[in-house]
Amino acid sequence: MRYISTRGQAPALNFEDVLLAGLATDGGLYVPENLPRFTQEEIASWAGLPYHELAFRVMRPFVAGSIPDADFKKILEETYGVFAHSAVAPLRQLNGNEWVLELFHGPTLAFKDFALQLLGRLLDYVLEKRGERVVIVGATSGDTGSAAIEGCKHCENVDIFILHPHNRVSDVQRRQMTTIFGENIHNIAIEGNFDDCQEMVKASFADQGFLKGTRLVAVNSINWARIMAQIVYYFHAALQLGGPARSVAFSVPTGNFGDIFAGYLARNMGLPINQLIVATNRNDILHRFMSGNQYVKETLHATLSPSMDIMVSSNFERLLFDLHGRNGAAIAGLMDSFKQGGGFSVEQERWTEARKLFDSLAVDDAQTCETIAEVYEQTGEVLDPHTAIGVKAARECRRSLDIPMVILGTAHPVKFPDAVEKAGVGKALELPMHLTDLFERDERCTVLPNDLKAVQAFVSQHGNRGKPL
Ligand SMILES: *Cc1c(COP(=O)(O)O)cnc(C)c1O
Repeated sequence: MRYISTRGQAPALNFEDVLLAGLATDGGLYVPENLPRFTQEEIASWAGLPYHELAFRVMRPFVAGSIPDADFKKILEETYGVFAHSAVAPLRQLNGNEWVLELFHGPTLAFKDFALQLLGRLLDYVLEKRGERVVIVGATSGDTGSAAIEGCKHCENVDIFILHPHNRVSDVQRRQMTTIFGENIHNIAIEGNFDDCQEMVKASFADQGFLKGTRLVAVNSINWARIMAQIVYYFHAALQLGGPARSVAFSVPTGNFGDIFAGYLARNMGLPINQLIVATNRNDILHRFMSGNQYVKETLHATLSPSMDIMVSSNFERLLFDLHGRNGAAIAGLMDSFKQGGGFSVEQERWTEARKLFDSLAVDDAQTCETIAEVYEQTGEVLDPHTAIGVKAARECRRSLDIPMVILGTAHPVKFPDAVEKAGVGKALELPMHLTDLFERDERCTVLPNDLKAVQAFVSQHGNRGKPL
């Protein structure tokens, strides 16, 4: 499989190189040159497979030519073996034909484990083969950091540095990062905000001299392997609900358009999906596009669903590329006008095309809490605020009551106690078994000033399993 850039100017890469690449050299994002397509019979024959076996069938074409089948199978069995639920991604019924796909049974209790547990293992496999080492420098406002650290903690060939804003992530989120020890794991608390952390990561990609030749790898959702891993659970859910003979609809709490883009790909690979709902919080650039063809940057608001607090949706470019007939020059032009003027619309027929599949809703904090309370009353289930946004959007935007509606349950509610307490159901919260001692564990973390040079010096001092690069 070959991968091409959404801006049309960067060289095509194979899977191995795309795994190690961040943005393409032309500023675009990598996508498969040709999407694999499965027949209905083929998909139907996967019913009842264990999660890792299904994952093998869905992802095999994407890694073809880079990873032999037997090795890939072994990696997938290990990856999904660490999940705490035997079904890996169980479906829980909320209402008549309404289901939550629980994606929070991984080590850090959010769906990002699905991709980052795999990414860590794939990186280590490829690097071992090449005899190389890499450094990961990532910024987190919470979920990505812990999932990336958990995913890389056993990697022999990866050193990981995660920057989080000092005193600005929740206790659970911080402890999920700082209580994991390893000579290749480095938590850095920056005396600044999340944007400061992210700027430092961007600046480090732009000028990598401090790495003395070691390659820098991205773990945010611009990395293709993350999207790829997320395609699998759309198949997994649909197969349990009568697919592919029957269509299924999904409602997806989204910020960077990564998770929902995976659903769009599942559909293009042959899975009958009749509707995809973009569920956003008050930071609603995606909703403004879907409802009114306006993709315009606005100020950032802090919400009760912080993992979706974004101004710009990085993966949206991947959808735009398809909407424009995969014309890289057109995307480069759009992105340029976005950079210059802070926004754009697309031609009417392209927008109409998107609306055949996508609907959207923006849900504010008050509605989020109302939904958590409402669902608790109806079912006894406590939802996390991101999932609650998905439920609200599903109920408002649903096109057909006959088609099963699956809401992606993106996080466990214990990660976001503020929203759950505000909704009045906090008493029902309990830490899952494997985290019951989280608050007794020792923490390891370095506090650094909001200064790029200080951070880069730290990385080059510790980037080789705690020793200098
Ligand atoms: C990251 C995250 C999201 C948003 O995912 P995208 O891929 O950016 O759309 C939603 N909910 C939770 C809990 C997350 O951690």
